[in-house]
Amino acid sequence: MRLIILAILLYLLYRVLRSYLGKAKPLDRRQGGGEVSDMVQDPVCKTFIHVRDAEKRVINGQTYYFCSKECAERFLLEQKR
Ligand SMILES: [Zn+2]
Repeated sequence: MRLIILAILLYLLYRVLRSYLGKAKPLDRRQGGGEVSDMVQDPVCKTFIHVRDAEKRVINGQTYYFCSKECAERFLLEQKR
């Protein structure tokens, strides 16, 4: 009889451990996510660029992203008109 109780206890322990491991897994999903949302559009030539590669300018408290310095300068010139 004792062996059966021991087997049941081991099985329950195994199930608890498995549920713990199952809960820990979703944390790994964060890696690699949100890549698509990092894309920004150049307001001058309408090209999509990654935030990391974009030319960033803060104009009147608003942040703009450009594909190149040329586009940023062109945008500033158009704002002055
Ligand atoms: Zn551009």
